Amino acid sequence: MSFIIENIANIKYRIRVAAEFSNRNPAEIKLLLATKTVSAQNIITAIETGETLIGENKIQELKDKYEELKNTPHQTHFIGHLQTNKVKEVTKYADCIQSVDRLDLAEKLQSRLEFEDKTIDVFIQVNTSYEASKFGVSPENTLTFAQQVKQLDRLNIKGLMTIGLFSAETEKVRKCFQLLKNIQIQMLEKDFPVYELSMGMSNDLETAIEEGSTIIRIGTAIFGKRPYPDSYYWNDNK
Ligand SMILES: *Cc1c(COP(=O)(O)O)cnc(C)c1O
Repeated sequence: MSFIIENIANIKYRIRVAAEFSNRNPAEIKLLLATKTVSAQNIITAIETGETLIGENKIQELKDKYEELKNTPHQTHFIGHLQTNKVKEVTKYADCIQSVDRLDLAEKLQSRLEFEDKTIDVFIQVNTSYEASKFGVSPENTLTFAQQVKQLDRLNIKGLMTIGLFSAETEKVRKCFQLLKNIQIQMLEKDFPVYELSMGMSNDLETAIEEGSTIIRIGTAIFGKRPYPDSYYWNDNK
């Protein structure tokens, strides 16, 4: 599957160019492999290039690939919409949840983690594009929500995640990323350790890096096109 290896090299190059353009150190920017619909074998090919961070959108897929991936060292972030009835599985199969966006979910995670006597890293997902089709807490409510999550001692808030507007108009996409960056600055001032900004995908990683992204989540540009539009994968009822 040499196309995967070549595509990863190409993404690393894009990261380097974008980082240099904005006077950033490329080493500050982590690559997360967005592996929805990708076979375990192809994921292993990618991990073996040294990229050990993967992201899955659906609990079922996480479970299906778990056995095949477990002997290949990697970390798994959950990046899809998480239903409250999947809390037990997510704490079992994921190392970090990037899509915490509502209090009932956060509270269910807390009780499950108390039961298991462990903690988990989380990101707060923010709906910076204000699109109704997207999940995430609204930018205005992020700080209040973060204060509530902070009370839940089994959840370690590590950062913020967003999906930028789908648009060919770069400046509109950039506004989403700037908004997330501004929320991060406000939160850092209030002593929330939200050092990670998970933003940027195949089509907008350069803009995201220019605006301060520390984790870009790349699927299509590495593994090729998926059979359905992304809205399909975000809705976990399907
Ligand atoms: C699919 C997905 C990605 C990767 O998107 P590409 O455009 O394929 O790079 C990133 N983040 C989330 C939340 C996704 O669902």
